[in-house]
Amino acid sequence: MDTLLPKLQKLTQNLWWTWKPEVRTIFRDLDLDLYHLVHQNPMSVLKQITPEQLESRAADVDIPARVDRALRQLQEYLTPVTTWGLIHAGAMRSRPVAYFCMEFGIHESLPIYSGGLGILAGDHLKAASDLGIPLVGVGLLYHEGYTSQVLNGEFWQQDVVEPFDIADLPLVPAVGRHGEPIKVSVELPGRIVQASVLEVQVGRIRLILLDTRVKQNDPKDVALAARLYGGDQRMRIEQELLLGVGGVRALRALGISASVFHLNEGHSAFALLERARHRIQSDGMDPHLALQEVASATVFTTHTPVDAGHDRFPADLAAEHLRPLAEGLKLPLDEVMGLGRVNPHDHGSPFLPTVLALKLSRRANGVSALHGVVSRKMWNHLYPGLREDAVPIGHVTNGVHLPTWLATEMNHLYESHLGVHYQDALTRPDTWAKIVNVSSAEIWETKQVLKARTIRFVRQRCASMRTRLVLPEVEPAPLDPDALTIGFARRFVPYKRPDLLFSDLERLDRLVNHPERPVNLIFSGRAHPADSTGKGLIQKVANILEDPRFRYRIVFIENYNIHVGRMLYQGIDAWLNNPQRPLEACGTSGMKVVLNGGLHISVRDGWWAESYDGENGFAIGTGETHANQATQDERDAEELFRVLEEEVVPLYYENRNAAGVPRCWVDRVKHSIRTLGWRFNADRMVQDYVHHLYVPASTSSSCQMPPA
Ligand SMILES: *Cc1c(COP(=O)(O)O)cnc(C)c1O
Repeated sequence: MDTLLPKLQKLTQNLWWTWKPEVRTIFRDLDLDLYHLVHQNPMSVLKQITPEQLESRAADVDIPARVDRALRQLQEYLTPVTTWGLIHAGAMRSRPVAYFCMEFGIHESLPIYSGGLGILAGDHLKAASDLGIPLVGVGLLYHEGYTSQVLNGEFWQQDVVEPFDIADLPLVPAVGRHGEPIKVSVELPGRIVQASVLEVQVGRIRLILLDTRVKQNDPKDVALAARLYGGDQRMRIEQELLLGVGGVRALRALGISASVFHLNEGHSAFALLERARHRIQSDGMDPHLALQEVASATVFTTHTPVDAGHDRFPADLAAEHLRPLAEGLKLPLDEVMGLGRVNPHDHGSPFLPTVLALKLSRRANGVSALHGVVSRKMWNHLYPGLREDAVPIGHVTNGVHLPTWLATEMNHLYESHLGVHYQDALTRPDTWAKIVNVSSAEIWETKQVLKARTIRFVRQRCASMRTRLVLPEVEPAPLDPDALTIGFARRFVPYKRPDLLFSDLERLDRLVNHPERPVNLIFSGRAHPADSTGKGLIQKVANILEDPRFRYRIVFIENYNIHVGRMLYQGIDAWLNNPQRPLEACGTSGMKVVLNGGLHISVRDGWWAESYDGENGFAIGTGETHANQATQDERDAEELFRVLEEEVVPLYYENRNAAGVPRCWVDRVKHSIRTLGWRFNADRMVQDYVHHLYVPASTSSSCQMPPA
């Protein structure tokens, strides 16, 4: 027993456990209730469990042997003989990729993410780790985390700060070459803000996080990085300076010399100015040459085709904040401001970090084929004289980190039919082609187990919300375990149209309450804390669900996060995605569902525009868009109901064999896994970045300047 606790502690020190179900379950099995109480955080479990409990559980569930096995696996993982990265990105070993992002979603117990962007960044780090890509993540440590969603009696979203104790996370001070803790400082108007540098190990990858809780800082500046996306424009630009400028300085202090800087979204664009400044001030380089050099080693990924989704800082605010950098760059402030302006000569116009990033990167990309097209069109005016298709923005379609999102039961099914080492060959079509040999009954039975678990989870969440809000209990419990179950969970914003299905309540009633072919719907999703439109959409949906016609069939569950997401993706039959085309840059939740044997029902937008083949899921509409949004919404609602009534429901309920297995449905599931599994995983995404962007950027000597 004396050695067990230290061994367990050792396992918690690397976030590798976040994608190892067999390691997570060790902590779960120590104390199930405690495990969920502390948001599935193993370090908290170890702190709170009593020695007696540890001793008795350890013997019951064979913990010592499982811990030894896990530690052995971790050791092997950390010291591989060879990796994909060694072969394809070996030259970057001494000079890694620096991957900057405003948020990282690695696990629900580290709440420094809000949604899709952060989770993508987390998946990117994990896949880079699995593949052995030399990469370092750079972000901010929001010590109050992101808010949790709780609805009040009017179903209005309350944003609750749930402070987390960073002592419960395996964060350690990052140290410099001589073992000294690192601190960085960033000049902001009227003061210098300091940040300490912490790091956390994500498999083989280091993630560096800046923390403003430093004694020397004014309390206002300690609060600067308290919360993700909190505060006003001033706080936002200062957070972005902290991340960009402070992040580059932290890498330098740690002796990390990156060969490629990958900016995941424009929030970290100030990093580019800091890199050039350093070359000019330390190495005496010519300012324009320095900017060119920076551009040639930069990869910029843009994520939003929604114009309002790009930060726009008023000219005065930006100028005030850019002055120190402009001085260091030895350039007139106006010229530096021009780098972030659509038209550099329009002096009153706002400063856009996205524009700065586009102008100062040789390589840029959108996150799906369609988003590439949309981005080239959207930014064409930055490249006067270039035709739209010549605008230098390509695309790498997103993918999801399979081990993070896959149900253990599905993993077993894949291991036994695709091969025990299938996870080493996720990007190969022939790995996934073997799914056709799996019997329909086995897939169906596995899904039934997962679905039962999901429904239990959802019922429990609903019941506890209703108890808290003193709403009458729903009796019998909502959701029929034998009914087709469709999920919809995402950020509540108008373009994602979470209320599209509620545009015709009579028809919805007929759909969900069909006597022989009922349908369950599970909704979840948050609005940005400052977005009252999004909160209004949640309220609207939640109110409709109180209608006695819908109470037993449709539910809303609070606080969509990684944990809730995992529970939904793994157990539902189908996933609904009905954004206004082409505003969903990629979308990744549907990919997580597909890998777990669910089907995707979607508008042909984002990744679905390039992957739907007529038989690997369902498409809403043809991909045409009407100029008038109201008309488009009407058409899409009509088409959505039609697809559900005529395609999805019949496929699910018809052609059942004697054992009740819907053969055609399961065939479609297999076809979906076969055609989509190899493409939409994060290994494929990271490999694409390596081949098309990282390796060229790390070796490029071309200093051709992108357009001014
Ligand atoms: C995957 C995921 C997202 C992103 O999904 P979209 O399809 O882009 O909306 C958001 N939140 C959570 C919790 C996720 O797991």
